[in-house]
Amino acid sequence: MVRWLAINIDLTMSASLRASTGLTTPDGLWFGKDLSTPEPIPEEAIERAVALMRSGRLHRYGEQGTGYPEPSLLEQEYAAYVGSRYCVAVSSCGAAMFIALKALGVKAGDKVLTSTFTLAPVPGAIAHAGADAVLVETTADYLTDLVDLERKARSSGSKVFLLSHMRGHISDLQAVRDICDRHGIAIIEDCAHTMGAKWDGRHTGTWGKVGCYSAQTYKHINAGEGGLVVTDDDDVAAQAILMSGCYMMYDQHILKPGAEVFERWKYVTPNFSMRMSNLAASLLRPQIGQLADRGRRWNHVYAALARELGKAPHLSIPARHPKEEFVASSIQFTLDLNPPQIERFLKECTARGLYVKWFGSPAPVAFTSNFEHWHYIHESPDLASSKAVLNQLFDLRTPLSLTDEDCVLIGRIVAAACSLAAEI
Ligand SMILES: *Cc1c(COP(=O)(O)O)cnc(C)c1O
Repeated sequence: MVRWLAINIDLTMSASLRASTGLTTPDGLWFGKDLSTPEPIPEEAIERAVALMRSGRLHRYGEQGTGYPEPSLLEQEYAAYVGSRYCVAVSSCGAAMFIALKALGVKAGDKVLTSTFTLAPVPGAIAHAGADAVLVETTADYLTDLVDLERKARSSGSKVFLLSHMRGHISDLQAVRDICDRHGIAIIEDCAHTMGAKWDGRHTGTWGKVGCYSAQTYKHINAGEGGLVVTDDDDVAAQAILMSGCYMMYDQHILKPGAEVFERWKYVTPNFSMRMSNLAASLLRPQIGQLADRGRRWNHVYAALARELGKAPHLSIPARHPKEEFVASSIQFTLDLNPPQIERFLKECTARGLYVKWFGSPAPVAFTSNFEHWHYIHESPDLASSKAVLNQLFDLRTPLSLTDEDCVLIGRIVAAACSLAAEI
């Protein structure tokens, strides 16, 4: 906490204030922009949201329902976009993953396979379902270790793999699916960082049984909070609608299985009150149409930054597989440096107004934590190879507002920091 505050104070200090306090670096390099600055909400969405607020109808369901509410339209539009039969709008991606686990029958005490390299809401969703996470190792290129997946698929007794496409890195989904099929394991995809991304021409989120997406501010579409569940399965869809909290108003969904499917589930499925509001859906609908354009712009920033960062000594960026059509909203890199050198690297970046995140930090910082910080996971094997990867893994957001000049400057700062760090 203290460290985070120190970084933030330093970063928000203007260049002139820094000069007056003598806080300048010998090379004069200074970035200072806030990489977590989001894009504005489209005007069309703002107008829609204002009209909704004037009506007061912010809840998605009405007892005398008039027409289809915004989340039902969003569900229809999003399902068409990814090519799934059903979509259910919920309150967050964490809620989507929890609902997916419950709908696949995960019960208290069950084991659920999941990725070691992921964000805290993923093991959080497993814990929420009362289950125990079994972590699958992550490779040096930030992907699922298929050998470890095969081993744990055989030994753990898990019936579900919650696969996280963390930071948009997509594992070979055909290979993952073959392993899971062989062991009777259902896949839930955490697509919080892969909205719009594909593997081998097919959208992530449609390779397994259920796909989960986020509409949190720092993902690809922004309603502050929000989530989407996609599936082709009638029983999962009916349960997701009931669990999300439709009460008995499932007819107000456009995409829904037949009445007989709801008859099977409506008396035995709890209402977890995890709906998406009309307001959130009204903000999101116009953003779906922007995904292709935003994806191109994000990947332009990624390519520019990858080129510049690639010039830094001791730094590597894994090559992406030709079948992986990713949508980058951040960039990751590995530094071949030891722990004291890494501390120095971070210090030199911070001194130049560049906030770099580190997955190997001994303590969780801001949004960033790693598996060693999740003490509620009962089974914690040493995961030595993932730990070695995370200890040298760094992360920068790539907001759409970054210019080519910004990318050059970031590259120069990182290169300077790497050189200084390597000297010690
Ligand atoms: C943000 C995030 C989530 C959770 O999304 P919320 O909508 O905030 O619940 C899950 N997985 C990953 C990889 C994320 O980055």
